[in-house]
Amino acid sequence: MNFENIPFLDLITPHRELEDQLVQVFRNALRSAAFIGGAAVESFEADFAHYCGSKHCIAVNSGTDALRFAVIASGVKPGDVVVTVPNTFIATTEAISQAGALPEFVDIDERTYNMDPQKLREYLEQQCRREGNRVISRRSGRPVTAVIPVHLYGQMANMDAIQALADEHGLIVIEDACQAHGAEYFSQRDQRWRRAGTMGRAAAFSFYPGKNLGACGEAGAITTDDDELASTTRMLRDHGQSRKYYHDIEGYNGRLDAIQCAFLSVKLQHLPGWTESRRAHAKLYTELFAEAGAAIITPQQPAWSKPVYHLYVVRCKDRGTLQAKLAAVGIGTGIHYPVPLHQQEAYGGLSYKLGDFSVAEAVAEEIVSLPMFPQLQRSQIERVVAAVSTYAVRAERQAVGLIG
Ligand SMILES: *Cc1c(COP(=O)(O)O)cnc(C)c1O
Repeated sequence: MNFENIPFLDLITPHRELEDQLVQVFRNALRSAAFIGGAAVESFEADFAHYCGSKHCIAVNSGTDALRFAVIASGVKPGDVVVTVPNTFIATTEAISQAGALPEFVDIDERTYNMDPQKLREYLEQQCRREGNRVISRRSGRPVTAVIPVHLYGQMANMDAIQALADEHGLIVIEDACQAHGAEYFSQRDQRWRRAGTMGRAAAFSFYPGKNLGACGEAGAITTDDDELASTTRMLRDHGQSRKYYHDIEGYNGRLDAIQCAFLSVKLQHLPGWTESRRAHAKLYTELFAEAGAAIITPQQPAWSKPVYHLYVVRCKDRGTLQAKLAAVGIGTGIHYPVPLHQQEAYGGLSYKLGDFSVAEAVAEEIVSLPMFPQLQRSQIERVVAAVSTYAVRAERQAVGLIG
């Protein structure tokens, strides 16, 4: 057969486009030998804070470290419960556990794949009891002190509703914004659009290479408006030092290399354009799928949301066959994520069972992530849609018994 492959993600083209600038950054780093800390780090932190609209940005090793430091610095104590969703990357719950806390889950909204505020309300009102002003989880007997909504696929969770419940129950909100650089949410409460990373007490971003803003290696950041949380996070990433060899607390080696910060500063200038491309691709996908009928469920975008389409995820029956058919014509796909966290072996000890989060479980069987990256071409999107539609129409006819 004669066709051009369409990768799920193309990381080569953007780096070829920026090669001269990135090599220059590397040369400058070698010549100054300022590898840890310094102007490159501070400059990226200032730029990314400005981009998000937050007061502080603290650059760290990874999104996972960003989450862990945010959990610790926000005041979650060992033994506390932190509530999140089961359909996220395991880093969300690793950060909770590694801060000494215990993850518990609430189910998602089928339309947005994000935390369902109604399910959070049911959890807090029916699965917890009040002791004075503390909220105690009945399943673990431990105090619930924080909630981590995940802005999955680049679309923000319904933050007003989550924040209102958190306020009512005295919980800290930490955003997992690792997939949502620049995503926006219209806050009714504030009567304005707000970016990911500005709505919780703190937020965590990942700059893993495949993210919308990616380093040339591992990287992450915390954003916050809270001065004290910012200074605690700066200490946590640097062995708990407030100044060299004076350790106020025990911390970690969680700093971000200066060279990665300089790479990120170069790339951050391109992020608004890349985001617009992703949005245009998503719009085209959705328009073309509309012609193809109901067999494919495309992403929903509530009026209060301006997603950044880290991933373009559709739902269909018999997802495995679709993936195989697409692979056979050179089209790459992914699944984010195939196994909800409460069903992972690593979390057997949490004693959840099949059926506990029926929406997340059902969705995990049917989702497939289609090619999505800024440099994707219109003709490539048309080919993906044609291939998916051919399969879907056939699958539907099969389902109603028209063909064998
Ligand atoms: C990528 C990601 C993380 C972890 O980020 P790393 O930089 O890989 O440590 C956490 N949460 C979500 C939702 C992610 O997509």
